[in-house]
Amino acid sequence: MADYLHDESRKTGSADAVLLPENEEEIIDILRHSSGVPLTVQGARTGLTAGSVPFGGSVLSLTRMDRILRIEPDAEVPFAVVQPGVLLQTLRQALKPYHLMFAPDPTEPTASLGGLVANNSSGARSYRYGAVRGHILGLTMLLRDGEKITLERGREKTSGLDFSLRTEEGREIAGTLPDIRMPAVKKHTAGYYIRPDMDLIDLMIGSEGTLGIVTSITVRLLPQPARTWGVLIFFDSEQKSLYFVKRMQEGAPVEAIEFFGEDTLSLMKENQNAGTMLTDSVPIPERAACAVYVEYASDSEERLREELRRLADIVSKCGGDPKMTWAALDASVLERLKEFRHDAPVSVNERISAVRQTHPGITKLASDMSVPDDRLEEVFSMYREGLRREHLRSAIYGHIGSSHLHVNILSRDMDDYERGTRLISEWAEKITAMGGSVSAEHGIGKMKTGLLQILYSEADLRAMFEIKKAFDPELLLNPGNIFPEGLK
Ligand SMILES: Cc1cc2nc3c(=O)[nH]c(=O)nc-3n(C[C@H](O)[C@H](O)[C@H](O)COP(=O)(O)OP(=O)(O)OC[C@H]3O[C@@H](n4cnc5c(N)ncnc54)[C@H](O)[C@@H]3O)c2cc1C
Repeated sequence: MADYLHDESRKTGSADAVLLPENEEEIIDILRHSSGVPLTVQGARTGLTAGSVPFGGSVLSLTRMDRILRIEPDAEVPFAVVQPGVLLQTLRQALKPYHLMFAPDPTEPTASLGGLVANNSSGARSYRYGAVRGHILGLTMLLRDGEKITLERGREKTSGLDFSLRTEEGREIAGTLPDIRMPAVKKHTAGYYIRPDMDLIDLMIGSEGTLGIVTSITVRLLPQPARTWGVLIFFDSEQKSLYFVKRMQEGAPVEAIEFFGEDTLSLMKENQNAGTMLTDSVPIPERAACAVYVEYASDSEERLREELRRLADIVSKCGGDPKMTWAALDASVLERLKEFRHDAPVSVNERISAVRQTHPGITKLASDMSVPDDRLEEVFSMYREGLRREHLRSAIYGHIGSSHLHVNILSRDMDDYERGTRLISEWAEKITAMGGSVSAEHGIGKMKTGLLQILYSEADLRAMFEIKKAFDPELLLNPGNIFPEGLK
């Protein structure tokens, strides 16, 4: 049971039972025979905001619903249909023979497709291809009472803000979406996605399991370019790297632009020296203050070479040093660079596990906010100034191309943790005022409800909560996710 009581946020909950259905019929049976019981839906539990951590009731784990049902490589728009428990790495592997890809590339390959949809996750390649939302063509969902809805992109739409859906059993679910203005940023997954005349499938994507249980997913597939090249550029100052990123954002689109701050590199170096780093095959130069990873993909080698020449020019204009640059021109070296990227969050998570031995109240404490591109430098200075003022140890890394960074607070004790929590709220206030989002990809879960209250007014949150009530009137599905306690 203990395994089902936490996710990668390191927050721990409690439950009376863990249910492990193998198919949709079994879920329907569970839903019909458990009236009144709160249910927390779980995918692979790699989430970082405790969305799948139960606080009472039963856990509904979908890990056994892990079959790829169809791959249609020759359809006009190639697609695959998967059960929610299929892992990202399993789908990637299955698509290889067809030279197709599920384009958004969240960093954690063991996340499930159900979790990725529920959180509208994104990854390094979302810089080019956007978040998961844009790659979902269809969903089947079960409501808390066991009734089923199917949604197809382009089929069920709202009329302005009014919506109406019918379950397969014939019940109508109708209402009006609140008139909420979402932040105009490249990445946003905080609260429900709401726009006039929208596709209703988009309301479900990113709803963190609060409206229904996703039981099958149709994903759009794109051709996998024949060649992918990655370049890891170490800079001797963060200022130079920010200037470089700005130049890259203004230029031709690349697949990914990822950042590793000074503090992150020093944490990874410590792990390399202690022999605990998962990948020590990418040495970090002595003079390196930070690094930026850039990825290119194309069928044409000539085009890629041209891009690299252009990149070298930009790097040198921004004060970079070719001697501190790694280029991966084949799959095995590229894999090492990707593992290096994956090591950044893993190093942080390991550090949290270690400190929890003496301070069990500490959990992952990280910002996941995005801002308009022209505010990136300002927000970066704000992060560094706040961390300095509060004497907090940190690790900054992430999807800088989308003006979205993760600032991890590495608390040494509860005092650090509390000051770090206050600092993140302070940033959320400022970022909201800049037109940014308080959660770009990890969702709100149970740990960031306070930040959602900063982003939206109480009236807007209450209006959003009415949507939850239309789908789940007894408030039994994923209680505690997204909405602050006390909303009725
Ligand atoms: C090292 C590391 C790196 C990461 N990098 C990224 C990254 O680059 N980008 C990113 O976006 N995230 C990242 N994450 C976070 C995490 O991988 C994502 O949030 C992912 O979507 C969670 O998937 P999961 O299957 O583990 O879901 P879980 O953690 O099990 O659940 C997440 C949420 O989805 C709900 N849910 C799960 N399945 C269903 C379903 N079938 N129906 C309805 N609701 C459901 C749960 O109730 C919960 O609210 C990272 C995590 C780690 C540990």
